[in-house]
Amino acid sequence: MRQSQLFTRTKKDAPKDEVSKNAQLLIRAGFINKEMAGVYSFLPLGLRTLNKVIQVIREEMNAVGGQELSLTALQDKSLWEKTDRWDDAKVDVWFKTALKNGTEVGLGWSHEEPLTRLMQQQISSYRDLPVLVYQFQTKFRNETRAKSGIMRTREFIMKDLYSFSRTKEEHEKVYASVRSAYIRVFDRVGLGKTTYPAFASGGAFSKYSEEFQTVSDAGEDIIYIDEASGHALNSEVLNDEVLADLGLKRENLVEKKSIEVGNIFSLGTKFSEPLGLTFKDEEGKLQPVIMGCYGIGPARVMGTIAEILSDENGLVWPESVAPFRVHLISLNTDEKADEIYTALTTAGIEVLYDDRDMSAGEKFAESDLLGMPYRVVVGKRSLASGKAEVKKRTEDESQEMAFDDLVSFFKK
Ligand code: ATP
Ligand code: MG
Repeated sequence: MRQSQLFTRTKKDAPKDEVSKNAQLLIRAGFINKEMAGVYSFLPLGLRTLNKVIQVIREEMNAVGGQELSLTALQDKSLWEKTDRWDDAKVDVWFKTALKNGTEVGLGWSHEEPLTRLMQQQISSYRDLPVLVYQFQTKFRNETRAKSGIMRTREFIMKDLYSFSRTKEEHEKVYASVRSAYIRVFDRVGLGKTTYPAFASGGAFSKYSEEFQTVSDAGEDIIYIDEASGHALNSEVLNDEVLADLGLKRENLVEKKSIEVGNIFSLGTKFSEPLGLTFKDEEGKLQPVIMGCYGIGPARVMGTIAEILSDENGLVWPESVAPFRVHLISLNTDEKADEIYTALTTAGIEVLYDDRDMSAGEKFAESDLLGMPYRVVVGKRSLASGKAEVKKRTEDESQEMAFDDLVSFFKK
């Protein structure tokens, strides 16, 4: 894309009321726009990154057999009353509204209830199981705090996957495969080294759930990590009995602030029993379906990347989620730079092309702020030498590369 056509502007300073680093950088770079506290719009560059995070998650959910669907935001009160999750005293994040005739409806903050009801029409026999379905869908949550930029918002896309199994054993296999898919997701988006599966409280049907916690001072959670085993646990399960279970010793634990980027849960029959989701087993006996739920917030992942990988000059995107792979900069060399732009994009390489009439200093500062993985500069000297300057966003040194070698270098 030609930068002269990009309608978003960068800003020198972050808005004064924005306390989180991720939102400061993303607003300055023109990736997002703050509509009100805890509510952000995604602009073209930000949307490209968000969609790439979504695509990584989608590929990994498909790889473990997930089938994608899309449920509605509007929620039926009577359904949520059956599981006792309509009352504000039970669930404190509801946004509720009403139809013209006065009928109350809710805006979905999670989707166990409607999906369990939907599955009642689809599942009847053991032959129908196991099933994994997921969606990328907008959740509404009336969060009390909203100080973490796009990591905690009142309206956000969640990837929520739900599994339906015949037996506890089958559920455990499915759970393990989704868990490994989560590890691959966080690896692919550049958070693998700093993200730990951490035990957290499990609710009525299983002792533990697991949170995927990324170590960061910007986090709102506290985890305890056992470096030797790679195990971690949330402070809410830090007691001597939860430790003995896990074979951990209190002295070995290191306390860290962290961001919950994902959460996976065994639900047992918590939803299938009250909503009557059953199947006929091989002997013809009715059994409740065993469920699991698995969430990731793509925008929270994106905010976490912005927090952790950025430097004093701006954002630093891993190649897997960068809006564009290459930031091509013309320094009054438009004819040659145009040619390179065409060659790269024709080869399928994603390029943001700074074809504007601005000083080199301004262009470089802005390029650092936007954070594409590679910067390719075509200046006056390049025209003489036949070489462009190629620099990684994460490195200080650049290398000279012959114009003719650029396409093959970036095709790799
Ligand atoms: P938290 O404890 O941080 O409030 P949660 O436990 O309520 O999160 P889940 O219901 O487990 O969150 O949601 C699954 C995932 O959705 C989370 O792991 C996180 O990545 C994301 N998420 C949750 N709440 C928000 C939010 N308000 N804004 C953005 N992403 C969110
Ligand atoms: Mg959670």
